[in-house]
This record gives sequence, C-alpha cells and structure tokens, in this order.
Amino acid sequence: MKDRLKDRIALVTGASSGIGEATALALAEQGGKVAIAARRKDRLEQLAAKLADLGAEPLVLAADLTREAEAQRIVRETEARYGRLDILVNNAGVMYLEPVAEADLGRWRSMLELNVLSLIASTQAALGGMRARREGHVVNVSSVAGRVANPMAAAYAATKFGVVGFSESLRREVYKDNIRVSVIEPGMVDTELRQHVAHEASQRAVNVRAGEMRQLQAEDIADAILFCVTRPDYVCINEVLMRPTDQE
Ligand code: NDP
Repeated sequence: MKDRLKDRIALVTGASSGIGEATALALAEQGGKVAIAARRKDRLEQLAAKLADLGAEPLVLAADLTREAEAQRIVRETEARYGRLDILVNNAGVMYLEPVAEADLGRWRSMLELNVLSLIASTQAALGGMRARREGHVVNVSSVAGRVANPMAAAYAATKFGVVGFSESLRREVYKDNIRVSVIEPGMVDTELRQHVAHEASQRAVNVRAGEMRQLQAEDIADAILFCVTRPDYVCINEVLMRPTDQE
C-alpha cells in the first residue's frame, strides 16, 4: 500500500539530513504532504526536489530552531500553506558530548534550546489547530540517552530525558482531544550527529563505540515513525525504544 497517508499534512524538523530526511521521504512515499525545516536551505531544497517527485508538494522552511519564534513560525507557515497540520515530527537535535567539569555552557545552552525548548514551542503552536479538529499526532525524537544516562552525555541525557517526560505529560493532557503523542528512542544511528561533537576525546570515544557495532540506519527510525503514524486512530504507540542488536 502506498497511500496510507494520502492527503495527511506533516511537518518534519531537522529534515536536512539523517533521520529527519529519511522520515520526510517515508511520509511522502505514503502520500503525505510534507513541510521540512532546518537551517541548511540548500539541503532542504535538494530533499524538496525528491519530495516533489513523490507528489508531496513540499514546503521548505529554513529556520534556526534554537529561536522560539522560529519554532512557532514553522508551524504557522505549514498551517497557512496546507490549511492544517496533522503530524508534527519534532526531530531536530544536536548532541554535544563533553564532561561536566569542562563543558562549554554556551554550547549546552543551545542544545537545551534546540532539543527541548524548540520542541515544546513547536508542539504548543500546533496544539490549537489539532484541538480544534480533534485530531493530530506529535512524534518526538528522544534517544536511548533519554532512558540510560552515560558519562560525557550529562546535558544530552538531560535533554532527552526531558523529551520523554514532556511527551508523557503532554499525552495525558491531550489524549481526550484525540491527539496522539509518540516518543521515539533510537540507539546508535549512522548519521551526521556525531560530527558535531566538539570535545575531541568524547568524539573519539563515541566514534570507537559506533565502529564496534552494526549501527541503525536513518531509514530504520523513519520506518518506526511511519509505523506510529499509520496506526488506526484509536491506537497510540506511546514509546518506541530501539537499539542496534549489537548495542549494550
Ligand atoms: P543529523 O545531524 O543528521 O540531523 C540533525 C538535524 O537537526 C539536521 O537536519 C540539522 O539541520 C537539524 N538542526 C541542528 N541544529 C538545528 C537548528 N539550530 N535549527 C534547526 N535545525 C537544526 O542527526 P540525526 O538524524 O541522527 O538526529 C536527529 C535526531 O535524532 C536528533 O534529535 C538526535 O538527538 C536523535 N537521535 C540520534 C541518534 C543517532 O545515533 N544518530 C540516536 C538517538 C537519537 P541543520 O544543520 O541544517 O540545521
């Protein structure tokens, strides 16, 4: 079946690479119309060409989502373009690994702004329309780091535990409005995420760990997200925790 999301409207954040890009394609392959947000406009435009070929009528939203107003604007522009928003995939994120004692707090602040506050701001902006229509699905990408806290990942874990807590609290606030909330918790995925770790020893350590396993691919996570958003509307997949078979 190729039309399980026929005419559904989705917004995917962090769609310029990795999990977000794969998710936008997976939603489009099922007939969804897809808005895509991130900072790198050139990468979004390359993806938009592929989405257009799939009939997804893409909307490119270049935005720095560490800024709350931008996280709200992308929702407003999606609703303005398509008339509504059915599926919000809050995926944009960074992973700044470093030991607490040496951490650059400015860097950590921007991670908290993106991984947690922007996800909250986009969700809040989407709720009005979803409530009015009594339907909608919010998919939040957390991590195994939202379930297990490792050294060098204190602030990253704080953001991802935060996403898990926020998602469950939100679910209990909105389930009576027929709004679903799913949280996705991937283990090691082969994407660009690790390239942005600025602390050299932490980057080396995480690259060594990644090299020791058959990592998940972005498409594996997109598949899980697609599964969540294609259940009948009385089914809410609350949480998906998935690791590479080789990951402890
Ligand atoms: P990528 O680095 O490939 O993707 C991250 C995305 O976030 C990019 O599209 C990037 O786009 C976007 N982004 C980063 N900063 C900003 C910003 N300030 N404003 C808007 N968008 C931004 O990594 P992944 O695909 O792996 O990461 C996606 C999500 O998956 C993240 O939340 C990550 O924490 C989570 N995750 C990843 C795992 C992994 O092992 N890879 C494991 C568990 C969870 P741009 O730079 O163009 O702005």
